[in-house]
Amino acid sequence: MKAVVYAGPRQISVQDVPDARIERPTDVLVRVTTTNICGSDLHMYEGRTTMEPGRVLGHENLGEVVEVGSAVDRVRVGDMVCLPFNISCGFCANCEKGLTAFCLTTNPEPGIAGAAYGFAGMGPYSGGQAELLRVPYGDFNCLVLPEDARDRERQKDYVMLADIWPTGWHATQLARMRAGDSVVIYGSGPVGLMAAYSAMIRGASQVMIVDRHPDRLAKAEEIGAIAIDDSRTSPVDRVMELTGGHGADRGCECVGFQAHDPQGVEHPNMTLNNLVKSVKFAGTIGVVGVFIPTDPGSPDDLYKQGEIAFDYGMFWFKGQTIGNGQCSVKNYNRQLCRLIETGRARPSWVVSQELRLDDAPSGYEHFDRRDDGWTKVVIHPDGSRG
Ligand SMILES: [Zn+2]
Ligand SMILES: [Zn+2]
Repeated sequence: MKAVVYAGPRQISVQDVPDARIERPTDVLVRVTTTNICGSDLHMYEGRTTMEPGRVLGHENLGEVVEVGSAVDRVRVGDMVCLPFNISCGFCANCEKGLTAFCLTTNPEPGIAGAAYGFAGMGPYSGGQAELLRVPYGDFNCLVLPEDARDRERQKDYVMLADIWPTGWHATQLARMRAGDSVVIYGSGPVGLMAAYSAMIRGASQVMIVDRHPDRLAKAEEIGAIAIDDSRTSPVDRVMELTGGHGADRGCECVGFQAHDPQGVEHPNMTLNNLVKSVKFAGTIGVVGVFIPTDPGSPDDLYKQGEIAFDYGMFWFKGQTIGNGQCSVKNYNRQLCRLIETGRARPSWVVSQELRLDDAPSGYEHFDRRDDGWTKVVIHPDGSRG
């Protein structure tokens, strides 16, 4: 089968690799019809993770079931399914509590919880930027989609259930958002946009979003968010102005460890410290941007060891609360799917490009450069452009 293979920093190619196949009786095999490039793929693409050369990328996957293992009873051949990026077992102590991002059995690395497709440090699993995908524990992991998911246009909505929409929603959940709250979101990439979209659906009174790419800020404005361009103004000052000097009720971090200033200099603590300043006393912050335990390639000495200079004094003084970590997609995907099915939500509004698998390497280049108009890239490995 053809697949997007990581070879080293900024080196990926589409190669012929052995077909994904059923390896255990609980597996499901999916022919991938729609898959996305994610912002977190870019950390790997840039060589800033422990991603091993030869691995197949892609953790936001949707397709048709083409084969099921002998121990699979619910999922059937022909079902259209969307896979949470988390690979989880359903029976461990964490999965039982709904913490599928921290599954205790699917990552073979001792002492590490959580697994994902085609992701550094998240187990040996191949990604779905490929023609075929092996799904472990298929009965548990597959979200079986409504019939209209056979339609290519609709797949662009449903594929967002694999990661970015639940993750954006999770940012607002970690921030304990309630109807009527004001929310400030740092990062207007796909996840930040989905956090803004979620905040709107959840009844925020005011959604402010901080970034500097005009095309992405314009996307946020399309759904009624207030765009704040941090290359033109202090985002903290602007949030204070917009909130009567109090700060936002809730804050979301949707940038991660490669946060950088408008001049391009990385400061892994920048968005977190700006959030402490932008959120009111006793406010709440949700962090879904990716941070990693060690980053030898970091230009920041502290962060080489995964540490940041966090403004803990002000955070404590303001009595704020922070929640963070990867999203357990299964907490949200079934409910959010219903919002798509009934037409209440159209998360495909973030999609800017649809590519064939062969075009993936150039898609990575454009998306990595944050080229104008490259907001969210969808790939169709079955050849069609949609
Ligand atoms: Zn993702
Ligand atoms: Zn588990």
